[in-house]
Amino acid sequence: MNVRSTDRSLRWRHVSRHKLTDLHISSLPSYVTKKSRSLHRWFDDLRCPSFDWLQVEITSHCNASCDYCPHCGYRDCWQGQHMTLATFHNLLPVFRKTALVYLQGWGEPLLHPHFFKMVSLAKERGCRIGITSNGTLWDSYVCEQVVQHGLDIVAFSLAGTNDRQDSMRCGTSFKSVLESIRLLDLAKKKLGSTQPAVHIAYMVLRSGLEEVATLPFLLEGLGVTHVVLSTLDLVTDPRLLAETLQPKDEKEEHYIRSYLKDAVERGKKLGIEMHFRVASPDQERGMCTENVLNAAFVSARGEVSPCAYTSLPAAQRVSLATFQKQEITPRLTFGNVNERSLSTIWGSTGYRAFRHRHDTGNHHSPCLDCPKLLMG
Ligand code: SF4
Ligand code: SF4
Repeated sequence: MNVRSTDRSLRWRHVSRHKLTDLHISSLPSYVTKKSRSLHRWFDDLRCPSFDWLQVEITSHCNASCDYCPHCGYRDCWQGQHMTLATFHNLLPVFRKTALVYLQGWGEPLLHPHFFKMVSLAKERGCRIGITSNGTLWDSYVCEQVVQHGLDIVAFSLAGTNDRQDSMRCGTSFKSVLESIRLLDLAKKKLGSTQPAVHIAYMVLRSGLEEVATLPFLLEGLGVTHVVLSTLDLVTDPRLLAETLQPKDEKEEHYIRSYLKDAVERGKKLGIEMHFRVASPDQERGMCTENVLNAAFVSARGEVSPCAYTSLPAAQRVSLATFQKQEITPRLTFGNVNERSLSTIWGSTGYRAFRHRHDTGNHHSPCLDCPKLLMG
């Protein structure tokens, strides 16, 4: 556990000792309803923990259909929806103490009809805002809106550097992503802004491992500052197990890492910071890469979970790939922000127990078999 996370959990424990939940604001007489609402808000703000980031799934609809995405694998039972503005409003008090609000989950954020309103509301709370987009809905107007609304990070998703990626990511294309990045760069220059920072969220599939080496050259001069190279962990079809990058032994791990390290070195020479993590069979189970002690995921329905994997708007049980096996993982949510505040949910007995188990390495299902604990 790092020092920062210790510090934050101690801060939360200290605040929770005040037992503010014992104050029954709702029992106040009706003529003070307005006042009680502001009191509610004040107590919420007071009890609110500080988050490093909150991932807020403003929509679980997507206009693309990527082979490896649960949108495809769970097509028959997918329950996509836009987050309502009322649900979003319930989160605003917590945004004041959140460093980064990431407006994205299992969907394309620009599809939300109130996307820019949500960005404005969040920005008013002083947090940084990021999104990941599939790059299909960007034109000059959208790019200028994004710059003017002060988005801090825009990551574009890719899973290859040529037509192969286009056939795997139906509805998207490598060329249109590059064009969207170019238009955003033009909008930034036109409006004299250095924001948003442009990132790439790149899914490295086993069949495309060699391609990664060309990525830095293709991005050169486009204003991309960071690339995160991810691997496929959530497998919705057994045929996709072959596309995971979980080495079975040291030799294979060395092989995979050498490709990724080469790409990182090339990126460095071109001023692009690239990062990757690969699950290792020898890695001791440590802290989850999702920073569950200081971050959370809120679904479009308003449900609060520790991560996106445990909050799919589809099957009750999903499959994580762990070293060529499929491990079945149940959904895990601790409450809904339409019923209780996020502060109350975060401080609930169940959520605290979950974090304690995580913190002490005493992992239970659904985390026990998760490759995110084995990343190094
Ligand atoms: S663009 Fe993203 S959310 Fe949409 S189908 Fe592809 S991977 Fe899934
Ligand atoms: S270990 Fe896996 S399932 Fe558990 S919180 Fe982390 S990413 Fe989610």
